[in-house]
Amino acid sequence: MNTQPTNQPIRVGVLGFGGLGQAAAKLLSSKGEMFLVAAADQQGYAYSTEGLNTQECIKTYQSQGSVGYLEPVGRLSNNSIQDLIATTQPVDGYFLALPNLPNDFIPSVAQEFIKSGWRGVLVDAIKRTSAVEQLLSMKDELQAAGITYMSGCGATPGLLTAAAALAAQSYAEIHKVEITFGVGIANWEAYRATVREDIGHMPGYSVETARAMTDAEVEALLDKTNGVLTLENMEHADDVMLEFAGICSRDRVTVGGVVDTRNAKKPLSTNVQVTGRTFEGKISTHTFTLGDETSMAANVCGPAFGYLKAGRQLHQRGIYGIFTAAEIMPQFVK
Ligand code: NAD
Repeated sequence: MNTQPTNQPIRVGVLGFGGLGQAAAKLLSSKGEMFLVAAADQQGYAYSTEGLNTQECIKTYQSQGSVGYLEPVGRLSNNSIQDLIATTQPVDGYFLALPNLPNDFIPSVAQEFIKSGWRGVLVDAIKRTSAVEQLLSMKDELQAAGITYMSGCGATPGLLTAAAALAAQSYAEIHKVEITFGVGIANWEAYRATVREDIGHMPGYSVETARAMTDAEVEALLDKTNGVLTLENMEHADDVMLEFAGICSRDRVTVGGVVDTRNAKKPLSTNVQVTGRTFEGKISTHTFTLGDETSMAANVCGPAFGYLKAGRQLHQRGIYGIFTAAEIMPQFVK
């Protein structure tokens, strides 16, 4: 069994060990209520009941390309996720810091967990509406499998969607939810999947064309735009999550942003504006703005683990299925 008493630290696995996966591991190393027991990337995985050493995992991944080389607990594998699950080592919850390329990749990973008989909490920071819709349609299977799946739990979707759900409480009717994000990263290679997925939202590109681009082609595109991607009217799951939570119809939600891939400074302040009508008939706008010093990694990994903790509490109460960041309040992880 994968369950353990409530007062024990939560045993966490991180799937995908790129930019966000490594940031997630670093963040966990300062927590007492959670610790990292498993990590997987495209070429291997590592597991330790006592906990993995974050610095060693990152050093091994960066120097050799996979946590599978970590001595003595790493294993090389081309099916790292399936092989890690098949070890049946106890893990209470996984953060899926994986690229969602193709657009059904993360839903297919969820299927692997369902098939395996593993029970626990899964959290993703998935971005596309159509990907979240695929996961929402798996509700009954997740429920029957004893999995509590928390979807859309990064920054956007995630923190900003939850902020919109909270802001909506002042209004009798929501007219508009407008999310605008600014991301600054020093080099695009640190977050290849994030950048590729963002390119997939640009006019003339799709998930498939972005996925098929070589690194050299991504660099050539970024050279043309001086490293800056400007994104408008993105297919972002904040819309379906707010609709599913009963807050407003999806056509009232817009998401766009600017990503600077050559500068760690944010090109603009990330914010969500929620406009609505109060019960007295006044039209107003609430604005929630993230501090410019907070990185994408902080605003994605913090909420992801906050939702993992909330998901764990639901799981322990026997509540399984799928929930989004707009429905559940994240719990603060100490
Ligand atoms: P990355 O490219 O830096 O790293 C991806 C990692 O996944 C690598 O370690 C790679 O080896 C691993 N991987 C790839 N295929 C795998 C497989 N089949 N099995 C096991 N591991 C595999 O990615 P990133 O930039 O950190 O982004 C991760 C995800 O986070 C993306 O899907 C991105 O869209 C999402 N994201 C969400 C938000 C949000 O606010 N919701 C923000 C940023 C990024």
